[in-house]
Amino acid sequence: MLPQKNRAAVLNGPKNFQIKDLPIADDSKVLLKTLSCAVCGYDVRVFNEGHRKVRHPIVLGHEICARTLNTLKLPDEKIIPENTRVIVSPLIPCLNCYYCSIGHFNSCNSLSEIGSSVNGGFADYINIPQNNLLINGIIPIANNISDDEASLIEPLSCCLNAHFNFNLQTHGEFVIIIGDGPIGLIHLQISKLYNAKTIVIGKIPSRLKEAKSIGADMVLLNNDPDETIKTILEYTSRKGGKLVIVATSNPEAVDLALKVAGKNSVVNLFAGMPKNKILEIDPNLLHYNQISLSGSFSSTPKVMKKATDLVQEKKIDLKRLITHRFSIDEIDKAFYVTEVYDGLRSVINSF
Ligand SMILES: [Zn+2]
Ligand SMILES: [Zn+2]
Repeated sequence: MLPQKNRAAVLNGPKNFQIKDLPIADDSKVLLKTLSCAVCGYDVRVFNEGHRKVRHPIVLGHEICARTLNTLKLPDEKIIPENTRVIVSPLIPCLNCYYCSIGHFNSCNSLSEIGSSVNGGFADYINIPQNNLLINGIIPIANNISDDEASLIEPLSCCLNAHFNFNLQTHGEFVIIIGDGPIGLIHLQISKLYNAKTIVIGKIPSRLKEAKSIGADMVLLNNDPDETIKTILEYTSRKGGKLVIVATSNPEAVDLALKVAGKNSVVNLFAGMPKNKILEIDPNLLHYNQISLSGSFSSTPKVMKKATDLVQEKKIDLKRLITHRFSIDEIDKAFYVTEVYDGLRSVINSF
């Protein structure tokens, strides 16, 4: 029996949430009950300035832990029983383009996404489109993973995707992460998993303290980029980073990244930047230092499964990143604390 209504935080336009009951479509074949959905920096950017992918009104939320309401049959004959706790890949690929044909669903030429192009997880229930199921977008989780922790497997998976994208050995090498937010701290945990010497550059002392306690070999408060570059080059004996991850939406970080990157290194632009931002960089830094400037976006269900295993095996600790919990009615507060960098991650719980 389908529920009658779906209580949701509907974004009607920039900075305009409305809590209301949405009808449940009669053709909702796969409806999940939301348990927890985390607030991402992307959500806050969409809330403030909109996004090319988003048409209002929309229910945001793509970092989802939910429960199945009926038995699901996935394409590989896998059965997910009723009442199973799951995480959800936000991807709704076209399944017709070249990238879909090689399984790179996050690179699909006509990609739609749950929580961007169709309604997402800041609601009591979520409707799962067929093409998400066809790529095994619903992944069951073990009992030792809490609902809130599970919601952060999606961003962990995106971070893993960035690390897997290059055939780069970082064991014993320097990895430099620019950004001390939750995403920077997830990259730090992955980097330590590969035994890299990891430096975190940030702007917020409490977050850098957390980075240190997670295991950063060095943390640096970036007040003056020239001073930061000097300190890093000294600390690494002028070797620089083998991998430099830009985990901040501040475009100035790209210039800093290229200047602390070592020879034959990779600089990864992990975070989305403000709309229409054109950067100026020194191309000779790329040329003479043989730096590869790269980007990464989202992940695939395959990587999400790996991320789930890492959390289940307690190799990555997502719990420590959750500092706030709110109900759907308090969504404005959840977005506010995210925007002012209060704590780390907020989750919205649905009951
Ligand atoms: Zn996200
Ligand atoms: Zn496609």
